[in-house]
Amino acid sequence: MRVPFLNFDAQHQPLKSQFLKAFEDFIDSNYYVLGNKVKEFEKAYAKFHSIAYCAGVASGLDAIYLALKVLNIGKNDEVIVPSNTYIATVLAVSYVQAKPVFVEPEWITYNIDPQKIEEKITTRTKAIIPVHLYGQAANMIEIMKIANKYHLWVIEDNAQAHGALHHQQMTATFGHINATSFYPSKNLGALGDAGAITTASEHFYEQVKMYRNYGSKVRYYNEVIGYNSRLDELQAALLLIKLQHLQTWNQERNQLAQRYIQNLKNVSEIILPQTLPNNTHVYHLFVIRCVKRNELMEFLKKNEIDTLIHYPIPPHLQKAYQHLNFKKGDFPIAEQLADEMLSLPLYPGLSNEQIDYVCEKIQAFYYEK
Ligand SMILES: *Cc1c(COP(=O)(O)O)cnc(C)c1O
Repeated sequence: MRVPFLNFDAQHQPLKSQFLKAFEDFIDSNYYVLGNKVKEFEKAYAKFHSIAYCAGVASGLDAIYLALKVLNIGKNDEVIVPSNTYIATVLAVSYVQAKPVFVEPEWITYNIDPQKIEEKITTRTKAIIPVHLYGQAANMIEIMKIANKYHLWVIEDNAQAHGALHHQQMTATFGHINATSFYPSKNLGALGDAGAITTASEHFYEQVKMYRNYGSKVRYYNEVIGYNSRLDELQAALLLIKLQHLQTWNQERNQLAQRYIQNLKNVSEIILPQTLPNNTHVYHLFVIRCVKRNELMEFLKKNEIDTLIHYPIPPHLQKAYQHLNFKKGDFPIAEQLADEMLSLPLYPGLSNEQIDYVCEKIQAFYYEK
């Protein structure tokens, strides 16, 4: 049996005729940038979150970057980010020339540890970017308390947690401007690059719309040095179709995750993902911590099971950030996670048989040698 890490057929094949119709309508619309589909999707995505505003942009990285821009964060400012995140969170901070300040995660959720944030706050700190890693919310209640106490902005990076709940409230609605990505592999993915911000503030919403479009509100009148970072009209049309299925897909992800957990709960060499009582997990990724990670990965590969590591090198040890002068040992939790984490295949359309096969092989690796 072959188990690819990711496959879109179960999501896309049933929607293909709707996609093709959307493409035809798109051609006929004669309106190819920032048209009605972008507006429609923005409305629908905001409504899905019960938040006032959504503005589509070109990617998740741009969404974080434009949020920082609109919040006027720049040179000499510091921004708190998790020490274990996808590099995009950190790159956005670098783009505005601010300094990323890393904070270690909690062991249980792998999300930024609120108890370690205050000690990193200085007079230069302007914002916190919590990341809802793998599909479970960071502790937004505590993070917002700290942000309010020190008058900091909060930008949620919700790229991995579309539809996740935290105390019955959806992620991407706690922070001041929140960023998300619709990169194809995300829980809600476009068929290309796409991203968005969500916010309760009309002002920030208008500002992002201005910045994404050359800094102009009225055509050919430029108020700020803006960018070209617009949500593509065709991607918006496809996202609008896919958004209707997000909840169902998330439920399916959860069922598959529960099957993994059931099958693997007695394997003592593995630490399974844990969901806190006030969270729902949308399992963007199903990540286990394990002993002999690299050997397990290789063994599974030999059995035609693809796995990935999210992420093998924490940002502070990346070559791109060597100028920050961090060394191995500076963020031991992030570093240990990078050595122990392994993402198993999990996506709508993955079968129970495939999951059972993966679990069988994991048990064989630990117990049949
Ligand atoms: C995917 C991702 C991003 C970046 O999104 P792009 O659309 O690829 O730019 C940012 N942060 C996190 C946590 C992500 O997983």
